Amino acid sequence: MGWLNDNVALVTGANSGIGLAVVRRFLAEGARGIGVLIRDAAQADAMYKEFGEKIVATVGDVRSPDANAEAVEATVRKFGGLDTLVGNAGVWDHFASLRKFDGATLKATFEEVFAVNVLGYMLAAHAAAPALRESRGSMIFTLSNASFYAGGGGPVYVASKHACVGMIKQLAYELAPEVRVNGVAPGGTVTPLKGPQSLGRGNDRLSDIPGFAETVADAMPLGFIAQPEDHTGHYVLLASRTNSRATTAAIFQSDCGWEIRGRPTRKKSQ
Ligand code: NAD
Repeated sequence: MGWLNDNVALVTGANSGIGLAVVRRFLAEGARGIGVLIRDAAQADAMYKEFGEKIVATVGDVRSPDANAEAVEATVRKFGGLDTLVGNAGVWDHFASLRKFDGATLKATFEEVFAVNVLGYMLAAHAAAPALRESRGSMIFTLSNASFYAGGGGPVYVASKHACVGMIKQLAYELAPEVRVNGVAPGGTVTPLKGPQSLGRGNDRLSDIPGFAETVADAMPLGFIAQPEDHTGHYVLLASRTNSRATTAAIFQSDCGWEIRGRPTRKKSQ
């Protein structure tokens, strides 16, 4: 028996990184089926190859209200309902600092990053809310260490992830008592998270930054950089009606201890 027996979920940005790990884990926990909203048809083909009839893919951009509505409809049509929305698609800003921007590029980057990271989540919530009210289900959003602390990106990314904290609280308030709304906040994780096109970094991956994994591991109290799979247990717990029915407006931090960055120095012999 899994923790999510017979559940149906919809995951955005499901074709790689944390989203893909969540899809794999939800199915391993007994989920009946998963709708995925992903960006291009080749990614959808790859997902059908791995998961077959266990998924239904909608190809589209999370910034589009229609794409989000289609993804919910396709999921409900194929699997007969919806229990959990996982809003997860995102872009990073490659630490773009305020003083290096010109005004026009800052505006374009802000609009792109906020449209994917904040509007994309809100549109998914809007599209999924009726089905989740009916099933008394829940929403889970992927936040970040950058939702709480400086240093996980530049001001645009950090502000976008902070905005999602407010969104979770307000949605949890508005959608109670039928729908629980929570978040998972990973820290630095080995994924191909991309940058914004407005900065010409649409193909640049976080995990390709030289020394990224070592630098993160070194700075973290727990001494390692997470893999996407390391976060999935939090999503399972929050999605489970039996194991977290009293939890809403909560954000589980899964960041190797970012808040207490650094380690006490000890002599080798201690
Ligand atoms: P990833 O690149 O593997 O996943 C991001 C997904 O979002 C991809 O599938 C991508 O195609 C999709 N996406 C981006 N823009 C889209 C759009 N406009 N329309 C549809 N899909 C779009 O990277 P990841 O690290 O797994 O990212 C998942 C989430 O985790 C993001 O919200 C990210 O901010 C967050 N996060 C990542 C880290 C990290 O270090 N990797 C740390 C904290 C939080």
